[in-house]
Amino acid sequence: MLIGHHPLASDDIILDRLTTPQPADRRRRYRFERDQVAHQVLLNAEWKKSDQKRTYVGEWHTHPEDSPSPSSLDLDSWLKAVSCTPYHGPGLLFIIVGRRKTRVWFGCIGRTEFTMILELPTGGSDGSTERNRKRTDTSHSQG
Ligand SMILES: [Zn+2]
Repeated sequence: MLIGHHPLASDDIILDRLTTPQPADRRRRYRFERDQVAHQVLLNAEWKKSDQKRTYVGEWHTHPEDSPSPSSLDLDSWLKAVSCTPYHGPGLLFIIVGRRKTRVWFGCIGRTEFTMILELPTGGSDGSTERNRKRTDTSHSQG
């Protein structure tokens, strides 16, 4: 789950927190079932800590592929997120962390298409790519 805030009088989404896999989540190589309660508790804590500014801004997960693209399951769940989850701001962000590239899509209610808005090298320049690669090889994880 991605957590961030929306500066007043702008359409910006500032993404500055995320939840990582929790013990009650169920992970498989190609599937992930999030324990909604555990992540909601984390989101509520951030909301309180930030004087009710931080809110839900999207979803992230990993893919065991170099340049990730959303599966049909991903697109279904993103559509569900934009149409069924209450959110503030212009829309939601959807991040897939691949082995070499991390990509960010944007979606909003009323639109069935998701636009890729950003592509970054996974792991950055600090040599952490190898670690990320090993981690994403073994499972499909999501926060
Ligand atoms: Zn996926």
